[in-house]
Amino acid sequence: LLPVPCSQDVSNGLRSPICCILGHVDSGKTKLLDCIRSTKVQEGEAGGITQQIGATFFPVQNIRKRTKELKADAKLNVPGLLVIDTPGHESFANLRSRGSGLCDIAILVVDIMHGLEPLTIESLSLLKMRGTEFIVALNKVDRLYGWKICPNAPILKAMKQQSKDVHIEFGNRLNQVIAQFKEQGLNTELYYKNKEMGETFSIVPTSAITGEGIPDLLLLLVQWAQKTMIEKLTYQNQVQGIILEVKVVEGYGTTIDVVLVNGVLREGDRIVVCGMKGPILTNIRAILTPHPMKELRVKGVFVHHKEIKAAQGIKIAAQGLKHAIAGTEMHVLGPDDDLEYVKEAAMEDMRYVMNRIGTSSVGVHVQASTLGSLEALLEFLKTPGVNVPVSNIGVGPVHERDVRKVSVMIERKKEYATVLAFDVVVKPKVQELAQKLGVKILRGDIIYHLVDQFKAITGCLNEEKKKADADDAIFPCRLKPVPKYVFNKKDPIVLGVEVVEGTVKVGTPICVAGKELTDVGRIASIENNKKPVDYAKEGQMVAIKIVGSNPGERQKMLGRHFEIEDELVSHISRRSIDILKANYRESMSSKDWCLVKKLKILFKIK
Ligand code: GDP
Repeated sequence: LLPVPCSQDVSNGLRSPICCILGHVDSGKTKLLDCIRSTKVQEGEAGGITQQIGATFFPVQNIRKRTKELKADAKLNVPGLLVIDTPGHESFANLRSRGSGLCDIAILVVDIMHGLEPLTIESLSLLKMRGTEFIVALNKVDRLYGWKICPNAPILKAMKQQSKDVHIEFGNRLNQVIAQFKEQGLNTELYYKNKEMGETFSIVPTSAITGEGIPDLLLLLVQWAQKTMIEKLTYQNQVQGIILEVKVVEGYGTTIDVVLVNGVLREGDRIVVCGMKGPILTNIRAILTPHPMKELRVKGVFVHHKEIKAAQGIKIAAQGLKHAIAGTEMHVLGPDDDLEYVKEAAMEDMRYVMNRIGTSSVGVHVQASTLGSLEALLEFLKTPGVNVPVSNIGVGPVHERDVRKVSVMIERKKEYATVLAFDVVVKPKVQELAQKLGVKILRGDIIYHLVDQFKAITGCLNEEKKKADADDAIFPCRLKPVPKYVFNKKDPIVLGVEVVEGTVKVGTPICVAGKELTDVGRIASIENNKKPVDYAKEGQMVAIKIVGSNPGERQKMLGRHFEIEDELVSHISRRSIDILKANYRESMSSKDWCLVKKLKILFKIK
């Protein structure tokens, strides 16, 4: 058994802050992590950097060495920094405890050439939702035209080497990014000019390729974390661990990758975790970390530990973990603990998310790979501009029974007979069933893409529905026949009218509002100055042709069944009003709605 060095050193009572990297695709998250991690690994000089499960540990000595030029070493008290290895939403979203974040500090990477991008904004809302502190890495400064490379230099030193043109371009791009953050309601400033950290978020210019600004980023991360989160970083004996991944590993069966945030874990400990089919009670068979001498991710090469102390990224092997849910807390059952109580506590995570969304009876089904991403997705669906109602949720693969359940929605609201599947497996058999039952399964691993897909299909359904409804959409109008322009009294009636109010359209059913209400048929055509038109508006004089509504039925006659003095109105109905409200709101004026009200009274519509 080999000891895991450094991160267990919590002599001053603080644990290592846990750090995640977020940002848009291609902003340089992976490269940035590599750049922080890979100093001289090739030359066998990793400087105490330890590969853990799903995380890399940077001992404070390493950080001190790399930030020497910034002359701040005396102020570092934490044992080091634990950086989560999978950049992006998923792991950040999973580092959660009842909705708040267990990631202590995040790096939000922004490409200086592109500024804020959709996933930057999505990351921002995630950070906000979890209440997590973050530092902006304004990455790819080496791409500024004419940049002189200063490998791994502090940013101010590197800036001093640059030409006036580089300074001008840098200034312009920086200002743009600051303005974009402002649009998102956030104040940001270059970190060395930032006098109000906490109120104003700091920006560190970096290059993940040539290393400029990396010392500044590391130092700021540690300093900021230990300055503002002493309480959060104070080591606690109570075990706190979060499942980041559930994985099958050869020779170990289903294992859980856990970030141990606090406490000591021992082989043989009884643990309870939240499972898809209820709480899972099991014993820890093995606590594993990667072998320090081996390169990352070599299969099957693990170090076993009798016990391990936070903060650490570890793998736990135990029986019965198949249905464990990533993004939930792991609970250790102490000798005095009540099992039922701990089981309840383990399932609390799932219930918490369920309760917060407030499912509605009509809405989509949301399925995600982990509880963290499910929560993030649900939160996004709730935001004002998005507003997608959710009827049901699930974690893990989409099953046939889910599809069957969703198919019920077809009767109620067709567009909601949809599964939004975030980063989950959908087997062909399930897909086939969905197709057969008319259920749509939309898949994606970027939240806003998934929601855009959904909006696209609902938009499309709306168009279909609009077309189907178009015949039944009756616009309100009042028409006054002009006595000298009666061209034909019946079959069809052709006469000149003045549009007194509203809009008359081809297809509108016309009713005489005389002593009695008499239906005379539908408008077959309209002519304005002898030219055919589809509609005429208030104030216009046009000729209309009215044909019988039903083929074969004798039409009512002008001069017998109604008089030229009688007013003509469109015969609206409850359904036509609903269609106007649903599909034509924007083309109706308030005057039009007033007329609808008057006609409602006339036709006694409730
Ligand atoms: P991720 O999707 O955010 O993880 O982005 P990657 O780290 O994979 O980087 C995307 C691309 O940008 C790759 O081609 C990188 O080589 C490049 N890149 C990342 N950081 C920098 C940087 O600081 N400077 C330059 N010039 N290219 C970078």
